[in-house]
Amino acid sequence: MYINKIPCLDLQKQHQQIKREVFEAFEKVYDQTAFSGGSFAEVFETQFAVFCGTKYAVAVNNGTSALHLAMLTLGIGPGDEVIIPANTFIATAWAVSYCGATPVFVDCTSNTWEIDSTKIEEKITAKTKAVIGVHLYGQPFDIDAVKQLCDKHKLFLLEDAAQAQGATYKGIPVGGFGELGCFSFYPGKNLGACGEAGGITTNNEDYFKHLQSLRNHGMTVRYYHDEIGFNMRMGGLESASLAVKLKYLTGWNDRRRAIAKRYQQEVTNSKIVMQLQPEWANSIYHLFVVTVADRDDLVTYLNKKNIFPALHYPVPCHLQKAYANLGYKQGDFPNSEYLAAHCVSLPMYAELTDDEVSFVIDSLNKY
Ligand SMILES: *Cc1c(COP(=O)(O)O)cnc(C)c1O
Repeated sequence: MYINKIPCLDLQKQHQQIKREVFEAFEKVYDQTAFSGGSFAEVFETQFAVFCGTKYAVAVNNGTSALHLAMLTLGIGPGDEVIIPANTFIATAWAVSYCGATPVFVDCTSNTWEIDSTKIEEKITAKTKAVIGVHLYGQPFDIDAVKQLCDKHKLFLLEDAAQAQGATYKGIPVGGFGELGCFSFYPGKNLGACGEAGGITTNNEDYFKHLQSLRNHGMTVRYYHDEIGFNMRMGGLESASLAVKLKYLTGWNDRRRAIAKRYQQEVTNSKIVMQLQPEWANSIYHLFVVTVADRDDLVTYLNKKNIFPALHYPVPCHLQKAYANLGYKQGDFPNSEYLAAHCVSLPMYAELTDDEVSFVIDSLNKY
């Protein structure tokens, strides 16, 4: 069997399939010169809110802005602390820092690799305002456990759902469990724009209105600025591409789930350790991450077989140079550090063929 190069993610196959439909949508945006915000963004907002089962969705220019505006909407600012997992993409922490607040890291669990709810309480101080849970790799964290703590200590709960468009927790889509849900539509995400984009979901009308103003220069009436705002609108072309792709998302997510199931059932090599999936978590497998004792050795072996996994993420947030001033050190969060040193992201995208999946599984079993 001849197998082409198998990358961790291939965006081309998907975009070839829907090219005509997306180009038709682009043509409408072009003819209406609706390039910034406007009707195409509004259409997508309505569709995405329905998809997430929330009352509102606000389209913005990327997922990092979504998190940033969420922090501002909740009034988080200098002197405040926000608890986040140490093992996340750095943008979760950026949002806290952008507001002048301090990210306070907690470890993940050793088996689900999601935020460890039992380690949160010891981090809560008089300055703590919020917890941002991250549905890492597309798998929901234990929302009820974290929400209980937030309720007890009167903290805001936010979901960083950047990797989890369509994931469900106890059968309910993520995005509506906390005050605000933050999504990224970066091209490589399960739902990715043809460009940069992000979104925020909420059931709170006040937050919704405030977010609409904040992303648009702090104005509700044109050229009257109620507060210092931002230019963080979603582009029309991006919005139109997302409206097309949203129709296919459930099918693409289901295909990823089928591939994940094969990895889980057919990879029998005990050297390969997989993420524990609690029964209440229905992941969309944005990434399929495994750990292995000697990561470099496995990657070299797979590369020789024309399989090119990736690493998400090689350095946990608390050990990044950008946060050296916070004074964390190696050993503070053993589970996050282990994951960073041993994680490997296997090929995962809807267009992987059954033969390619079989080849990856066979290669892993022969390792
Ligand atoms: C991608 C991502 C973000 C940032 O989204 P962008 O659209 O790239 O700005 C934030 N948090 C997590 C967990 C992500 O994976």
